[in-house]
Amino acid sequence: MTGALVLFSGGQDSTTCLAWALDRFERVETIGFDYGQRHRVELDCRSRIANGLKGMNPIWAARLGQDHTLDLGVLGQMSDSALTGDAAIEMQANGLPSTFVPGRNLIFLTLAAALAYRRGLEIIVGGMCETDYSGYPDCRDQTIRALETAINLGMDRRFTLQTPLMWIDKATTWALAESLGGADLVELVRVETHTCYLGERGRQHDWGHGCGTCPACELRANGYSRYREAA
Ligand code: ZN
Repeated sequence: MTGALVLFSGGQDSTTCLAWALDRFERVETIGFDYGQRHRVELDCRSRIANGLKGMNPIWAARLGQDHTLDLGVLGQMSDSALTGDAAIEMQANGLPSTFVPGRNLIFLTLAAALAYRRGLEIIVGGMCETDYSGYPDCRDQTIRALETAINLGMDRRFTLQTPLMWIDKATTWALAESLGGADLVELVRVETHTCYLGERGRQHDWGHGCGTCPACELRANGYSRYREAA
């Protein structure tokens, strides 16, 4: 029996990854992190999304197991990024956006592996992507491969870190959701997932909820319109 642990934040990418894992693996569990992010509203979306996925497909319902949420407030204490504080979202002198939280994905994946170890799951799935990403160095494939090696050495296990979105862009991520769960899954992603950095839910655009102007909203809106054009 193959088991997977999915890093599931409640955003578009991790929801698509969760559907991807449910399509492939017999046992799937989820992990989410509360680190004081401004867009922690996405954590509230998680149970609605999980229930939506279960209602969509009886096989997925049977496969989806326990959800784990970890309090990672320490990450917010260490970081002064625009995701955890009031800093403006802008490009910094080092070429990275101020939304970069140093070490975030390294910590997420290491903790996920520690949990997977305990739960007997050998595959860890994350939505990292270096195709149209924001330049975050911890989203690069090279980082993930190196971390996989370090984790397997340090825990004496053979985990595989899988990143189904690594080489596709946002338009293709919408198309992937369609291929996994048809129009129902696209609609669930559109209405229930949260991407906006500012944590704004209020306005509903054709691509979903969000402020519409932060980099995360722009990326999502742009990908959705290219996906619709190609349809
Ligand atoms: Zn936004």
